[in-house]
Amino acid sequence: MIVARAKEYAEGVRSGNRTMLGRTITLIESNAPKHTPLAEEVVRQLLPHAGRSIRVGITGVPGAGKSTFIEALGCMLCARGKRVAVLAVDPSSTLSHGSILGDKTRMEMLSREENCFIRPSPSSGTLGGVTRKSRETIVACEAAGYDVILVETVGVGQSETTVRSMVDFFLVLLIAGAGDELQGIKKGIIELADTILITKADGGNEARTEMTRAEFSRVLHFLTPPNRAWRPEVRTCSSLKGTGIAEMWEVIEQFQAIGVETGFFEEHRRKQTLNWIHEMLEQELWRAFTHNPVIVAEWPRVERDVLAGRLSATGAVKQLLANHLS
Ligand code: GDP
Repeated sequence: MIVARAKEYAEGVRSGNRTMLGRTITLIESNAPKHTPLAEEVVRQLLPHAGRSIRVGITGVPGAGKSTFIEALGCMLCARGKRVAVLAVDPSSTLSHGSILGDKTRMEMLSREENCFIRPSPSSGTLGGVTRKSRETIVACEAAGYDVILVETVGVGQSETTVRSMVDFFLVLLIAGAGDELQGIKKGIIELADTILITKADGGNEARTEMTRAEFSRVLHFLTPPNRAWRPEVRTCSSLKGTGIAEMWEVIEQFQAIGVETGFFEEHRRKQTLNWIHEMLEQELWRAFTHNPVIVAEWPRVERDVLAGRLSATGAVKQLLANHLS
């Protein structure tokens, strides 16, 4: 029964039906336990048809120019016959109940493209939950024949690391001369970048952009690159004028070509998949532990004993684990 229903979804997605793709993603994003078996089966049926795309993560603070850049890049790629999916990972939407990313109104031209699919961030759940959903949404988009997957995220908090763990290429957008603090740049984010792109190189801002480019090139020089076969670069672009966009895409294509040639592309994906299993396993084990009625009953007593000095923290952990496993 479930297998047959899942087949309807999977076939709809694979035939390129955007409504079916949207419905499938809604199913994947659902938090209702009753949807889980069907969602799992649909993903299982789609998996053999996934994997044939380049997955690009794009981050930057609000105002860095992410959506304008994605619109310019996406329209260029559609004009070249590519099929482009734009997804968003936005942990802030969990709190604000509204996504500030992947918003259709911000990418008006791109959203009219026949070959483009734009999906805002799932608006509920923890970032961990969002990770699973986003990874499975990538699977669905790939099975639907999208060959470029752009995953947008806000450059604040922990979401960059999350997005980094699900894409092949990670692009960090910066504004010239905005100052490190304003842009919330942490060394950690720069270290994740496969390329840094300084945006808004237009309207008299060109010299400043170039200075920032040179500055970050120097910074990158002192950092360990994310992988040995690729040296991250700093580029500039103007999404409004359309300059530097084709060149940025060439960099991504070059990255992919070198990655395939040297084997790091597949190696990286294999590592990501294995890490994903570990992450999900950790979450599941933690969920099972904290929902175990024995643990729920015992926990307050164990905590009291530790605080009163009757039990060591190590002893508490041993006791709780023993209770969980018995
Ligand atoms: P996001 O919050 O990172 O998605 O940033 P947006 O793409 O919404 O851009 C923020 C503001 O910067 C908007 O007012 C854009 O019009 C402007 N902007 C984006 N790209 C460019 C550009 O290439 N040149 C100029 N001059 N302005 C830009």
